[in-house]
Amino acid sequence: MAVRIDGKITSEEIKDEIASRVAEIKAQGGKIPHLAAILVGNNGASQTYVGAKVKACEKVGFQSTLVMLKDTVSEADLLGEIQRVNENADIDGLIVQLPLPKHISVEKVTAKILPEKDVDGFTPANVGRMALNWPTYISATPFGILELLKRYQIETSGKHCVVIGRSLIVGSPMSILMARNDNPGNCTVTITHSRTKNLGEVAKSADILIVALGKPEFVTAEMVKPGAVVIDVGIHRIEDASRKSGYRLVGDVKFDEVEPIASAITPVPGGVGPMTIAALLYNTLLASEKKIYS
Ligand code: NAD
Repeated sequence: MAVRIDGKITSEEIKDEIASRVAEIKAQGGKIPHLAAILVGNNGASQTYVGAKVKACEKVGFQSTLVMLKDTVSEADLLGEIQRVNENADIDGLIVQLPLPKHISVEKVTAKILPEKDVDGFTPANVGRMALNWPTYISATPFGILELLKRYQIETSGKHCVVIGRSLIVGSPMSILMARNDNPGNCTVTITHSRTKNLGEVAKSADILIVALGKPEFVTAEMVKPGAVVIDVGIHRIEDASRKSGYRLVGDVKFDEVEPIASAITPVPGGVGPMTIAALLYNTLLASEKKIYS
């Protein structure tokens, strides 16, 4: 039976480490890390995510500022708000919660964030630094996956890593990170997508299989090599009348049939998902301590 890679416990460990560092900074009279979040409109899911991020800041002892703008805000006014945060020396990190209303360009907004404060790691400058293996803010989901591999001491060097999905927030950066000369890294990487032929065969050749295609329980046991490490990024609500809530959460991997043959696997929920807020806090601490851009 596979080792269960527990993102809930690991994310709590990381948050405890951050809280200890903040306590030290406070004791030495240093500057408390400060994260600003901009939320546009009243999308329920976005409000929940931002709320959880602000709460997590409080828990580890960070300062936080939440800027709430109406969904009718103009692109120019939003860019102006970002500029104000960029120029505010007390704020170390800035995130703009996505998605944004249709009349606002995500590219323009992302590019406006000062790379030094881009703790989501989405700006072209920081994505470039990631590809170059320079110090940078690694974005939340890839950061979470790397940290799980590291803390569970999963050997990646020389292994064949297959990534399913090439999105800009998960699949593409993961393929770059796993190939870098680093630890975790040094894999031979195959990136696959919707046009890939013989996906099952390719997936089955993976020592490490990272699945991020957004299709519930797509990866079955016959697509997985016995002994492979399986990282499931997907998250879906499936109707389930037997549950009080009326639904259950599943990933992109058919967990029940893959777990018995894998050597290690992330569950859904409780795998990659809980790591994202820890990543954001970690990057904000790096920003506050000027560890990336000194
Ligand atoms: P996306 O929809 O942006 O990208 C999906 C990718 O999968 C695309 O590159 C597409 O080419 C590829 N794909 C689609 N069908 C395929 C097929 N049949 N065979 C091979 N490749 C195929 O998705 P995303 O934003 O990367 O998210 C993927 C999943 O991960 C979603 O379920 C999402 O909800 C979840 N997610 C979870 C977290 C987390 O924190 N746990 C974070 C981000 C995304």
